[in-house]
Amino acid sequence: MLHILLILFASGLFLLLTTVAILSKIEKEDKAAGRAIAAAFIFPTPVVLLWIIDFPGRDLISSILMGLIILSAVIIFMPIPIRYKKANDKLTDQYDERDVVFVRHKLKEGTDQFDQYYDRRPEKLEPDNKYRIAPGLLSPSSSMADPFMYSSAAASFTTCENLIDICDGPVSETQIQANPAELSRYIKKWTKHLGAHSVGITLLKNEHKYSIGGRGGQYGKPVENSHKFAIAFTVEMDFDSINKGPQAPAVMESAKQYLNAGTIAVQLASFIRNLGYEARAHIDAHYEVICPLVARDAGLGELGRMGILMTPTLGPRVRVNVVTCDIPLMIDERNYDGSMIEFCSHCKKCADVCPGRAISQEDRKMFNGALGWKIDHEKCFTYWCNTGTDCGRCMASCPYSHPDTLMHNVIRYFIRHAPVFRRIAATMDDLLYGRKPKPMDLEEWEKVMISKD
Ligand code: SF4
Ligand code: SF4
Repeated sequence: MLHILLILFASGLFLLLTTVAILSKIEKEDKAAGRAIAAAFIFPTPVVLLWIIDFPGRDLISSILMGLIILSAVIIFMPIPIRYKKANDKLTDQYDERDVVFVRHKLKEGTDQFDQYYDRRPEKLEPDNKYRIAPGLLSPSSSMADPFMYSSAAASFTTCENLIDICDGPVSETQIQANPAELSRYIKKWTKHLGAHSVGITLLKNEHKYSIGGRGGQYGKPVENSHKFAIAFTVEMDFDSINKGPQAPAVMESAKQYLNAGTIAVQLASFIRNLGYEARAHIDAHYEVICPLVARDAGLGELGRMGILMTPTLGPRVRVNVVTCDIPLMIDERNYDGSMIEFCSHCKKCADVCPGRAISQEDRKMFNGALGWKIDHEKCFTYWCNTGTDCGRCMASCPYSHPDTLMHNVIRYFIRHAPVFRRIAATMDDLLYGRKPKPMDLEEWEKVMISKD
């Protein structure tokens, strides 16, 4: 009986690891597939040998081995409900959009705006000058330059810019009333139908909003948005494209998803205005709110080591947009996921992977009254301006970023619910995919050669 149990265990382990290898191959993760198939042959071998070779004390050793296997499985996979204590993550002061690195990047030397900004924030001048001398995003002289893929990205960014004029607009004079719970359900379903991956609703708080605007005609003006509600939603970034970063497909995918999210946001805002209530879409380069903060409070995830939103099924591999509005809605409770913060505390893979050395290896610190992680935006952006793309190595390598499939969702389930599994999951991810996974190769269709004639 004991030997049958052991051989069943060995066969189950072999089948499991072979399945992992096949699924990894399908996901084009060749290294993981190779390692899983090697493990499928190595790990069950001692058990098979124990079954084949007869020697004195075999039954005792088999019993001990079986006991250890069962005990380890129980310890590793046992879900234990833990009440995580949420640290303070409410900001003391609102952020000024003029401090955002993308906004500072647009300041032109010799202008009043430039002088006034660096008079106020002299410590920013030196780090900012490092990206100012680099070629720049989508620059033909950047290290990852590709005229075809850069043109694709620029096309998506330009189309997205054209949405800015329709983020806000006239409100219908006739107000249509609805039950807030039913309307919220409708909005969530419809937003997902338009292409969103997850949707949540929260009250719009002061700390969600920038204090002073930094873009276009809003530069230096107070942000005035008195809407009561905020609808946050995510769109998925394609795993393969991000996994090719810092090569050009990463920035193509970013641009594409900024546009997708923007298209959804302007439709949602227009829909609410058609019902007779104010609504404004917050899309790329046209924000009044800090989207990840809103999304976190709307229950869509937590802010991890990269300082961006980490969602339960796609990790950081999302873009977030927001619609603020006045139509009465049912808000979602934020369900604080301390397991994600705990995982980030010891994983640190993004920090090891980051080619710009922009992600901290340290524990969370207090920033503006809230405990969290903050990346070095200047270092990250300088790397972007040298490569010409928005890199994405951190996002691609994060153990939470694996595709939204049964295999990865089972792993994410145990990371969330089983504390011992959570401690070893990052190491397992390293063993399978590597601590610093290499970018995926470009596909044939992405390799267009420039004709000389
Ligand atoms: S790579 Fe690890 S530390 Fe970084 S965000 Fe993902 S889970 Fe957190
Ligand atoms: S995008 Fe690249 S440079 Fe920026 S933090 Fe992530 S890995 Fe580092």
